[in-house]
Amino acid sequence: MSSIRLRNIVKRYGAAEAVRGIDLEVTPGEFVVLLGPSGCGKTTTLRMVAGLEDITEGDLFIGERHANLSAPKERGVAMVFQNYALYPHMSVRQNMEFALKPLRLDAAEVARRIEDTADILGLAELLERRPSQLSGGQRQRVAMGRAMVRTPQVFLFDEPLSNLDAKLRTQMRLEIRKLHNRLGATTLYVTHDQTEAMTLADRIVIMRDGHIEQVGSPEEIYAHPANVFVAGFIGSPPMNMIPVRMEGATWEADGFSLAPSPHVAGEFAEGRDLIVGVRPADVSVGAADAAGAVRARVEVVEYLGTTALLDARIGAHEMRIETPAAQRPQAGSDIGILFAESNPLHLFDAETGASLASDIATSKQEKE
Ligand code: ATP
Repeated sequence: MSSIRLRNIVKRYGAAEAVRGIDLEVTPGEFVVLLGPSGCGKTTTLRMVAGLEDITEGDLFIGERHANLSAPKERGVAMVFQNYALYPHMSVRQNMEFALKPLRLDAAEVARRIEDTADILGLAELLERRPSQLSGGQRQRVAMGRAMVRTPQVFLFDEPLSNLDAKLRTQMRLEIRKLHNRLGATTLYVTHDQTEAMTLADRIVIMRDGHIEQVGSPEEIYAHPANVFVAGFIGSPPMNMIPVRMEGATWEADGFSLAPSPHVAGEFAEGRDLIVGVRPADVSVGAADAAGAVRARVEVVEYLGTTALLDARIGAHEMRIETPAAQRPQAGSDIGILFAESNPLHLFDAETGASLASDIATSKQEKE
């Protein structure tokens, strides 16, 4: 399996910069997901790796080979598109045969590869059908099969599940991960769906506006977001962001104050503006007058079966809280929110949005 290396890759369309200097390495056999909002440059990046877009600046290596100028078919990559791009007048078998044509294999080898791939993907019974006679999920599998028969060094996926309904998407997601576990092909996968990214990726690359904001395992990105953007983008419902100001020994928010984690108190200058990030599940809910709790009014309760989502007013803020359904309060009641120290609070610089988690780690170390 090949690695993929991008070094300071830039893509300009006229004066507009779609990709602004990206560095990334995908190691052999790794599954890397490019994730970000619409227009952030994910697809453009993938298409440059595939050879479907010219690279304006920077270097692309596939394996040890400098690939900027290689023709797409020489790159050892296979791409699966969102709309499958199957030939409608050809059968499933012919669609796969067509993908093998440039390799000039003998007929027996072509038949063997198609049959093996069809077995793996559960398409053996469907080989003589046309795409119009298949379901969305089956078409998607054919599109993957057509990529697989070429035994590529690298798989590229461009939002392959976005045309499927929610149930099928969940199922195909699992199939793609199983297939990856089995084939171990180096994979670069584009999506704007955070669940897909979290469940499929070995590492996630969060992009915004042509830049990379953070690269890390799903756990790293979730537990240690590098900045406010990543923190707000990953996690559902999103992290609560509470602007506070350092005042004496407290964080003053609009209408209430928080006791800072002892590891952080005093480390920041008086008057410094910060943002406290709190995931909805990372607080506990107690009685309104519970010791150490911040009082809040529950405005809406959404019952979700195992859990409930509360929309609570705390000072001038709306806060989303996830609580076990059995312990959910009534809408209109007052509760006490406990920002328990055992649960992580995230801290960001209000001006730059950068995480100050490293400050916390440092100050912890200094104290020990
Ligand atoms: P989406 O999830 O909506 O597909 P994306 O992250 O994949 O978004 P890209 O398709 O890579 O985003 O587009 C990045 C930027 O480049 C966008 O601002 C887009 O408008 C611009 N762009 C893409 N293709 C072209 C083109 N052929 N000509 C001019 N601008 C383009």
